[in-house]
Amino acid sequence: MIYLDNQASTRVDPSVLEAMLPYFDEKYGNSASRTHKYGWDAEEAVEEAREKVAKLINAEPHEIIFTSGATEANNTIIRSYSNEHIIISNIEHSSVHEPSILFTQTASAFINSTGSVNLEFYNYLLLKNPKLISIMMVNNEIGTIQPIKEIRQKDPSIPFHSDITQAVGKIKVDVKDLDIEYASFSSHKIYGPKGAGALYVKQGSKIFPLLYGGAHERGLRSGTLNVPAIVGFGKACEIIDLNNEHIKNCVSVLNNELKLIPGVNIHNFPNKVDHNLHFSVPCENMDLFISKLSENVAVSFGSACMSLENKPSRVLKASGFYDEEIKKSIRVSIGKFNTEEEMVLAAGFIKEAISFAEGG
Ligand code: PMP
Repeated sequence: MIYLDNQASTRVDPSVLEAMLPYFDEKYGNSASRTHKYGWDAEEAVEEAREKVAKLINAEPHEIIFTSGATEANNTIIRSYSNEHIIISNIEHSSVHEPSILFTQTASAFINSTGSVNLEFYNYLLLKNPKLISIMMVNNEIGTIQPIKEIRQKDPSIPFHSDITQAVGKIKVDVKDLDIEYASFSSHKIYGPKGAGALYVKQGSKIFPLLYGGAHERGLRSGTLNVPAIVGFGKACEIIDLNNEHIKNCVSVLNNELKLIPGVNIHNFPNKVDHNLHFSVPCENMDLFISKLSENVAVSFGSACMSLENKPSRVLKASGFYDEEIKKSIRVSIGKFNTEEEMVLAAGFIKEAISFAEGG
């Protein structure tokens, strides 16, 4: 199997796994236990991880709240603005989109066919006195990068949240330079374990907890901390290397191979992360195509995050795609463990699955 679904989740880096292991069977204390060494060791490990996570995005350690992942971090911020008028983009991840629709008065900023926020319409929305803006930095389906600094500068007085889950580890993220109040991200997208994430809250910014019942994370996120996962998250942040040359080479090999397959339509978004390649295949019977391809290659159709919803991708619709093209679209996301050889093989499997589906 060739794994090309790194925007859905990544393999844990061996050094991350090694860092985590002692926290399962040797140092297994509760980081909130104040009366013995097990607790002190766990707490020290969590605080070390907090420093590493903060450093990655140029935040202060006390501005990081550990969560179970980006979904929880996103929900926490949106719920903190319940019943208020807020602005989100119309390509946000469901963990921003759904709570916004359910709990706030939301207006959506449009995305152009380039995959970027329509700034004219955004300026118009700002006139409606929003209390929060939430715009993701990198989209999880099409990989487009929003100019967060530029968008934020349109009105720096309004609190700004960015879902940076798909940005960290791929491009530089500096919350001080962006001048934003809130950001959410997740460990398992950056070669860390699942079950850990972070919410950055700039000192002094409004926030209400989602979970109550303990004083963990200064009362902002109650519940025993997932110490091994947090340790792994810290290590994953520490070892991030933003040199994307290897990823670029892999994507370029795959791109060139795909161009040779008749009918494959590569979706060229102008400003996107190197890791993402989005295209459609010339198949009427996508069920057959998917069943054949998934014997050898792991990719995502529409979006891994949307796959449980089983309806046409909201993001592709917002970016101007017709339903027919959406149905045939594939997201490939490359990670550091992929190789150029895999790209050639994957293109071969894609070609084979197309002929299979088309009865060739
Ligand atoms: N935001 C974005 C942009 C994502 O891609 C994801 C993961 N698909 C999430 C939020 C949710 O992250 P988690 O899996 O950590 O809850």
